[in-house]
Amino acid sequence: MTSHSTSRPILVSSCLAGVPCRYDARSRPDAEIVRAVTEGRAIPACAEQLGGLPTPRPTAEIAHGDGEDVLNGRARVISIEGEDFTDEFIAGAAAVTQLVREHEITEAVLQAKSPSCGCGAIYDGTHSGEVVEGDGVLAAMLKREGIRVIPVRGARQEQN
Ligand code: SF4
Repeated sequence: MTSHSTSRPILVSSCLAGVPCRYDARSRPDAEIVRAVTEGRAIPACAEQLGGLPTPRPTAEIAHGDGEDVLNGRARVISIEGEDFTDEFIAGAAAVTQLVREHEITEAVLQAKSPSCGCGAIYDGTHSGEVVEGDGVLAAMLKREGIRVIPVRGARQEQN
């Protein structure tokens, strides 16, 4: 995580803060982010839960595009079971964006490769573990909002 110059909190992916909100109902805690949340320097949010998806849930990836394409209606978020989660992903990203506005947040540190939180690299939509360039749906929406989005340091191999 990077330092920031104002006293405003940053946004972080809930799973990095130790919340068991991942598709497999586990978390992926990052010690620095847990500390930042505990000290009130970071606010955790999970776009997929806020969009109404259950936990656990089938893993999902963006098919034929990235988060920006999803927001433009040119790509869909599809679960490994073939369900279309696009509406939930967009609704969740909008809920997190609202939270960001309310707290005047300007920076986010997000889980790597996730179809929601991934920044600059996401799974390729084939559920094969392959990664392509692009942002998740939340990262793309936050960028539109002018938020600086950063993948958590030491980008991990774990899914979602
Ligand atoms: S990567 Fe983002 S959307 Fe996925 S579980 Fe973590 S906080 Fe939720």
